[in-house]
Amino acid sequence: MMDRPLVVCGPSGTGKSTLLNRLFAAHPTKFGFSISHTTRSPRPGEVDGVNYHFTTDAAFVEMIQRGEFIENAQFSGNRYGTSVKAVKDVADQSRRCILDIDTQGVKLIKSNHPTLNPVFLFLSPPSLPELKKRLTGRGTETQDSLQKRLDAAIAEIQYAVEGGHDIVVVNDDVERAYGVLEKVALGEQVEGDKLPEFGL
Ligand code: ADP
Ligand code: 5GP
Repeated sequence: MMDRPLVVCGPSGTGKSTLLNRLFAAHPTKFGFSISHTTRSPRPGEVDGVNYHFTTDAAFVEMIQRGEFIENAQFSGNRYGTSVKAVKDVADQSRRCILDIDTQGVKLIKSNHPTLNPVFLFLSPPSLPELKKRLTGRGTETQDSLQKRLDAAIAEIQYAVEGGHDIVVVNDDVERAYGVLEKVALGEQVEGDKLPEFGL
């Protein structure tokens, strides 16, 4: 199980970074983050080459043309992509590779790279009002980008409702959710949570 990458997918603002940062801090040598490329600007505290490789649109398009991405997608007006190198760098360290990607990326990996064979985990918000509260509370979004992220959240949740993922973890209480996520990451057998009723 530990040799399969773990894909963590979930609406922006659900708490993916919060839980993953905690996982990396608790197990500094077991896991490696697949550092994506993005054309969005860094948020305060984000470090180039750690959270993302921050890049320009032109450089990103050149990477697409050179075939350097496993998958790439546009999200909320910016490009995001997982390079072959990002995943290889983690494998070279003999660590379990953790990817934080959106639903488009999940679908692209399933259709184009089945041999990657990851475990797909959906990190769900407890409700849509709580998601909005977290996104707003993070203080990183404009009115426009907040709305785009909430719109995208609907499609992400719908794909989870369709059963697109192997396991669901609801990030209600951070301690509880981390406990479940950590078990999954360590390759333990976990039942997972029930997806909340979103009333979509
Ligand atoms: P993502 O990486 O999924 O976009 P973040 O990790 O940035 O989300 O979390 C979004 C906001 O929600 C942050 O301000 C974070 O501190 C907060 N948050 C994360 N998990 C919880 C939780 N279980 N309960 C309340 N707030 C949370
Ligand atoms: P954020 O801007 O909040 O960091 O990320 C926005 C969305 O892009 C999130 O859903 C995140 O999972 C997704 N994302 C981050 N990196 C990648 C990537 O390499 N590929 C894809 N498809 N999505 C990504």
